[in-house]
Amino acid sequence: MAVREAADLRLLFDLDARRDALGQLESFLIAHTDALTEALATDLGKSPTEAWSTEIGFTLNQIRDARKHLEQWAAPRKVKLPLKMRPGRARIIPQPLGAVCIIAPWNYPVQLTLAPLVAALAAGNSAVVKPSEIATATEALLAAELERYLGEYVSVVTGGPDTVTELLTHRFDHIFYTGNGRVGRIVMRAAAEHLTPVTLELGGKSPAVVTSQADIDIAARRIAWGKFVNAGQTCVAPDYVLVERSVRDRFVDQLRRSIERFFGDDPSLSPDYGRIINGRHLGRLVSLLDDPDAGQVAIGGLADPISRYLAPTVLIDTAAGSALMDDEIFGPILPVLTFDELDEAIATIGSRPHPLALYMFSADDHEVDRVLARTTSGGALVNHTLLHLAVEGLPFGGVGESGMGSYHGVAGFDTFSHLRSVLARPTKPDPRVMYPPYGSLKQRVLRKVL
Ligand code: NAD
Repeated sequence: MAVREAADLRLLFDLDARRDALGQLESFLIAHTDALTEALATDLGKSPTEAWSTEIGFTLNQIRDARKHLEQWAAPRKVKLPLKMRPGRARIIPQPLGAVCIIAPWNYPVQLTLAPLVAALAAGNSAVVKPSEIATATEALLAAELERYLGEYVSVVTGGPDTVTELLTHRFDHIFYTGNGRVGRIVMRAAAEHLTPVTLELGGKSPAVVTSQADIDIAARRIAWGKFVNAGQTCVAPDYVLVERSVRDRFVDQLRRSIERFFGDDPSLSPDYGRIINGRHLGRLVSLLDDPDAGQVAIGGLADPISRYLAPTVLIDTAAGSALMDDEIFGPILPVLTFDELDEAIATIGSRPHPLALYMFSADDHEVDRVLARTTSGGALVNHTLLHLAVEGLPFGGVGESGMGSYHGVAGFDTFSHLRSVLARPTKPDPRVMYPPYGSLKQRVLRKVL
């Protein structure tokens, strides 16, 4: 379907139509589970378990949650009237925005294309969906099959930057972009032309803080899991660790142990360890390791361009000025930096742009509260990694450089809705005091009441 036609797709004011659309999306995912799993293996070497838990099953959960709560989310929301405004009835009535545009990245090419679509459809919008051209097998599958299920409401557009540039000349009612901040700026500039609101789901360097009060074994296992799932190509992966100096060696030993338990002696042979999306990204990651300031390789370090493999890699003594600490790493390289006082870790985090996630490992509530109160990030998680984004009731999104707006659960529904304020007044009473002419008596009364 041509992009232009998408704007004419009908809105789903009717909740049954929205349920039908969500049902169609569910049918698509169920019917194509095997094909999607295969595409994800081709694109990213994703294991079937990861493909299910982080992509297909994840999106199915979003659909089921939306279906379950649709009536509640779409219902008018009563607002209490202050005494002076009574009698009357105030409500917020969610309405579809219209035709929305969803632009997705390659790292979770199913989830990040379809989870925003769940929210858009639940809120009653039609959508133009642009999967990432970099995850080629998944893009091809979505382009070939999705409209067969959702053609009434959804148009799938394929291609790279030129396609996006062309797409953004059209007038949409909302643009939902997930990807890097450089393109986020391009999207926002183009959206300004039509005054189109945007949601930008970006990335950043998400820190993990580990103090001496943490359960070090658990911290290492959970950070290793969060970092090396999808070979580190996760927007909320712990980008670097700030560990208290006294426990650094134990922490790194436990990281080594966890990596061995997860992926064996040679992770390149593990069916559960992914691959880097393409040669360009692998080259970028290897050059980060080649930086003389990168520090010492404590674990891993091996790369194989033919299979796009990069071992789970842990670095110690990384210099603060190293290229690794400039931008989001977005691959399986984990620099472990040290601090002596918690305030140093807080200062390091505060000196950088606001990250998408922050992970705090400590059994001491005072330490946890201090870090949470004195830093900011899109989301935060205490004593684990990644899991916060699987809680449907928690809005998922960034702050500052890590993005604007949020989704998942009702937050996604609201992102794709216009929350219309409606006040209804009965015709009686109609006190004259509010209408001119205002003598001094009316003025006194009005000042008192208002
Ligand atoms: P990408 O290269 O697939 O780009 C994302 C989208 O932007 C694609 O659809 C692509 O076609 C389009 N695009 C690329 N260059 C463009 C240009 N010059 N003009 C217009 N459109 C263009 O993905 P990426 O940006 O490499 O994704 C990785 C980044 O995304 C990381 O920074 C990561 O943290 C972030 N990310 C954020 C989230 C989140 O939910 N907040 C999720 C995943 C990834």
